[in-house]
Amino acid sequence: MPEPISRRQFHQQLATGAATIALTPTILVADDKPAVLGGPKAVTIDRPRWPITEQNDVDAVERVLRSGDWYRYTGGESPVDVFEKQWAAALNVPYCQATSSGTSALITSLAALGIGPGDEVLVPPYTFIATVNAVLLHHALPVFVDTDPATAQIDHGQIEARINENTRCVMPVHLGGASCDIEQVLAIAQRKNLFVVEDSCQTHTGEWNGKRLGTFGDAGCYSFQNSKNLTCGEGGALVTSNEKLYHRAQSYQDNGGGRPKHDGGYTGNGANLRLPNFQGALLQHQLARLEAQSKLREANALYLRQHFDDIGGIRAKKLLPGTTRHGYHLFIFEFHPEFFAGLNKQKFTAALRAEGIPVSGGYSATNKMDWAKRLVTNRHFRRIYGDTRLKQWQAENTLPNNDRMLKTTCWFVQDLLLGDRTLMDQIADAVRKIKRHAGAIVKSS
Ligand SMILES: *Cc1c(COP(=O)(O)O)cnc(C)c1O
Repeated sequence: MPEPISRRQFHQQLATGAATIALTPTILVADDKPAVLGGPKAVTIDRPRWPITEQNDVDAVERVLRSGDWYRYTGGESPVDVFEKQWAAALNVPYCQATSSGTSALITSLAALGIGPGDEVLVPPYTFIATVNAVLLHHALPVFVDTDPATAQIDHGQIEARINENTRCVMPVHLGGASCDIEQVLAIAQRKNLFVVEDSCQTHTGEWNGKRLGTFGDAGCYSFQNSKNLTCGEGGALVTSNEKLYHRAQSYQDNGGGRPKHDGGYTGNGANLRLPNFQGALLQHQLARLEAQSKLREANALYLRQHFDDIGGIRAKKLLPGTTRHGYHLFIFEFHPEFFAGLNKQKFTAALRAEGIPVSGGYSATNKMDWAKRLVTNRHFRRIYGDTRLKQWQAENTLPNNDRMLKTTCWFVQDLLLGDRTLMDQIADAVRKIKRHAGAIVKSS
């Protein structure tokens, strides 16, 4: 097990780039051939499995099953109620509303802020499509702000240029678990009178200057989907410090019912986006392990960052100076073909997979997908926004920095970072091996 690293050490190490953990030197084996060229795999040990279940998870789910109280509002304090309190306490916010997914949390937040047809919402393109879908579902217009390729986060310097009289909200994503420049986003939002909804679906422990991500905006949204660092298979939550917003959210996720007052009135604005008690019970136990797991991921990630710096031509994304803790849902890095004999990203990721390392080439351009082409001819959107605005939207939907970044950006998913130090060394060995033989891999197909 790697030594845990304190937050201060983490920040200092990142700031100075000082390699304070000794890297295990590579031992060159006789058969140094990359697996993609027929050599042995670099990874020889088992990778961690995700999600992690223990007996208390099984017991908790069984208790709900046997109680017959599967739905959260069957009376008394339910497992979902308990989890909401625990999550709010963990984040140090007054209110938490559980939802059926991270997507539902985003939809509920926008609804609670009154976002609707005719409103424009600023979003980054380098994100999971749910960020965009939540906006579209309200018949609001998602307006893209280009990415800062060094960090993979929204480029706050380009936000103002996209604001017009219909802009109501900015929805930054803390991509991969690292923070966007939330301070700058908040300052612009305040100046321009915009709401801020943080898509924190990829960060459960990330912090900006010691404060948890997702607690800065009007609302912060989390996902507990199977792959996420805190999971119950499917689930989500929003947090807020605004009591009115919380009550509107509570009503919205319960079909616009009279919650919290149970007065029987329906607002006509809502859906069933409730989290069941099975998930609430499971989350309580998963949450108890979140800290220890996160510390392990952080230590491994820091170690891997140093390995990559040592290798050259491959580098973890830069963190913004306010980042005091990284949530590490993704370990996002840049791969530069010119340091690998011109090997392209596709062949590089294929070679890494052959070594036994799951790696993703990352998101494709959300803003260029089919939905974006269809939006300008959609009869509802045409009626709401008019052809002039939609044509302008289409013309402005060019994001050169994001396009450029896609060519060099890759990631590992969080569960890989739950492995031991040997696994991190084997990942680094695989990259070194591929680099040494990059010329041969380029010629091989
Ligand atoms: C996972 C994710 C979502 C959606 O969460 P679900 O629980 O899958 O609905 C939204 N935004 C981002 C950035 C995500 O990673």
